[in-house]
Order: sequence, then structure tokens, then C-alpha cells
Amino acid sequence: GAERTKNVLILMSDTGGGHRASAEAIRDAFQLEYGDEYRIFVKDVWKEYTGWPLNDMENQYKFMVKHVQLWKVAFHGTSPKWIHSSYLAAIAAFYAKEVEAGLMEYKPDIIISVHPLMQHIPLWILRWQGLQKKVIFVTVITDLNTCHRTWFHPSVNRLYCPSEAVAKRASLDGLEQSQIRVCGLPIRPSFVQAVLSKDDLRVELEMNLDLPAVLLMGGGEGMGPVRKTAEALAESLYDKELEKPIGQLIIICGRNEMLASTLKSLEWKIPVKVRGFEKQMEKWMGACDCIITKAGPGTITEALIRGLPIILNDYIPGQEKGNVPYVVDNGAGVFTRSPNETAQLVAEWFSTKTDELKKMSENALKLAQPNAVFDIVKDIHELACQRGPLANIPYVLTSSFSSLIC
Ligand code: UDP
Repeated sequence: GAERTKNVLILMSDTGGGHRASAEAIRDAFQLEYGDEYRIFVKDVWKEYTGWPLNDMENQYKFMVKHVQLWKVAFHGTSPKWIHSSYLAAIAAFYAKEVEAGLMEYKPDIIISVHPLMQHIPLWILRWQGLQKKVIFVTVITDLNTCHRTWFHPSVNRLYCPSEAVAKRASLDGLEQSQIRVCGLPIRPSFVQAVLSKDDLRVELEMNLDLPAVLLMGGGEGMGPVRKTAEALAESLYDKELEKPIGQLIIICGRNEMLASTLKSLEWKIPVKVRGFEKQMEKWMGACDCIITKAGPGTITEALIRGLPIILNDYIPGQEKGNVPYVVDNGAGVFTRSPNETAQLVAEWFSTKTDELKKMSENALKLAQPNAVFDIVKDIHELACQRGPLANIPYVLTSSFSSLIC
């Protein structure tokens, strides 16, 4: 008989732009490759609690004290090395309820986690429900290098790593080679499939057709020294002797509306476009010649696919730090926090050092793994096929996990 449509639950969180982008990339690739064979649900476990924990410090504290103790007891013996941060444990306890509700509602055959804190609880709930052997659980890591250890859980069916460096950390942390795959970071299929030429894109986006273009951004939230860099570029990309610009500037501010409106109110000596949150990043990247950004994994990976040399001007301490050597050591870009240095470098790339720009662009393309998202969904599909026709999975509402926790 016809195979039942399989349910896929993707667990993400809308902090920054990266996790959502990865989750949506995986969803889109499933739909392109397998159509109706899979039904995909993307579940944002923070959504109902926007603003937390910052809006509720007092209750958060009470909550932590209450649950950290419980959590320590719960995990003692099963995953002791994970309990190195009680803060993480408290956050995890907080979303346990959400995850369990998601499991009940969507009855997933496959669970995909794209978040560093969404291994332990879902896997624990599956065990609680006696479903660990029936439901496929995979993790897709969305940090390029120095990721947190909470990404690694020995009970996953697969761990998809964006780089060899991450795979090495995973095996040091006890995962078997058979569990680990190195595919690259999943990027929206539209990025890979974009075929428009730079010239066509510039017409469509109403850009200057002749001047080389630099794209300036700061992740989904428009972070980093965007304004200072823009002002420095407006100077360095203006030839004072000839009284004309040698380049144009595109600034994408993401969800930072304050930044966008400030920049829009300024006068510029060179052609400048200021945009808010853009849905078609592949077009803007395809129309430009280099990019300036904080070291977000999503933006970096997309820029590499488009062959854009990268100037990294900031990083979030911890998980983004390792993204810097990943780019710089592979010759695909440089790191500087100085807006003036950044502006000077771009001016050189656009005038005397066009060879360097070209070489970096080639290095970027070499580092790019545009098929990562397809490799990942194909591998998950194979895992699902190996299980044979999945029986209806007996999710039962027990009296339950969340009442134990809360
Ligand atoms: N992004 C977007 N539109 C914007 C700004 C950003 O679609 O206006 C996307 C960008 O293409 C990337 C993600 O948001 O996929 C940003 O992820 P990244 O990992 O670089 O940084 P984060 O925002 O998560 O810190």
C-alpha cells in the first residue's frame, strides 16, 4: 500500500537569524527532494515567551533555584558532564514543556534539532515514552568551529557537522564515527539555485551598473560597527581628485530598524542603499563584490557560496569566535575591528588590489559547500528508509514529563 506521509519536527529557536534560516533551509530541501513524502513542522520553542529571560528576572531566579536541583537529580548518572552550567540546565527545563507539547501535537517520525540546547530534553522525553528506538533523532550543528558541548549527545542517530573541526570535537566528546557526517552548514536552497547574473541582479535591485559594490551587514539583528564603517566607506570609496565615487555601498540592517532609519537620514557622497530585513539575501549577495559582516555562521556560509571575499568586523564571544580563523586561515577574508582599516581595504580591493579580491573570491568558492542541505536531507531520508515502513508511532499523553518538571 501507499506509504504514510512521515512527520518531521524541526526544533529551533528564533534567537538571531541563524537557527531559523537553517531550519527553513532543511524544510525547503525536504519539500524539493521528496514533496509529499514528508510533512515538516518547524517549532520555535521560545516563541510564546518572547523577551524572556530579560523581562522576568525575579521569577527566572526562583525558577532556576527550583528546577536546577530537580534537573541535577534527573540527569545524575545519565549525563553528568552536561551539568557544567546550571544556567543552561534551567533554560532547558524551561522549554521541556514546550518540547513535550510539540511531540504530542506533531507525532514526529523524525526529529531534527538545530539548536545547542535541544538534544537532551527531547531525547529524554523519547526515552520516557519508550520511543527512542522508533523515532529518528538527528542534530544539525549550526556553528562552524568553536561550538558548545551541549550540541553533542551520544544517543543521536546522526550528527551533521559543518566542518572537520566540529567533527573532531564531536568524536573527542565520545560520538562514534558512524554517527558523524561532515556536510557543511545548511543554507536555503534558493541560494544554491540562484542563477541570475550579477548584471541582471543589479538591474533588478536598481543598483549602479558600473561601480564595484560592497555589502555591509550585521546578522539578522544588524549588530556590530555598521554605522561607523558605512561613514568610513563613504570617504574611502570617494576619489577626491576626480570628484567621483570608485564604489557603491549596500547596507542591510536586518531587524535593526533604528539603524536603518538613522542611516537613511544621512547624506552620502557615494551611491548607498539602506535596507531593513531582506528576504532575498541571495540576490543582494549575488549583486555585490565583497561583504563586511560580523562572524555569523549563516552569513559567512552564504557569502562563501556566492564567492564573496569577507571582512569580519565583529563576533559574538564563544560560538562565533572560531568562525574567524575558519575564514581567515582559508584565505577567504580578513578580520579587523577598525572601521577605517575596513574602509581602506575595500578601497584597495576596488582599485589597486583587484587581484587580491579575485584570489579571495576563488578561495571562498573552494571553501563553499552549496549542496550541504541536500546531502543532509538525503542522508536523513536514507535513515528513514532503513527503518522500513514506519509504523504509526504510539505517542501517548502520559501524566507526564512536564508535570514532573514543573
Ligand atoms: N538575514 C536575512 N535578511 C536580513 C539579514 C539577515 O535573511 O536582512 C539572514 C542571513 O542571510 C543569514 C541569517 O539571517 O542567513 C543571519 O545568520 P548569522 O548566523 O549570520 O547571524 P545571526 O543573526 O544568527 O547572529
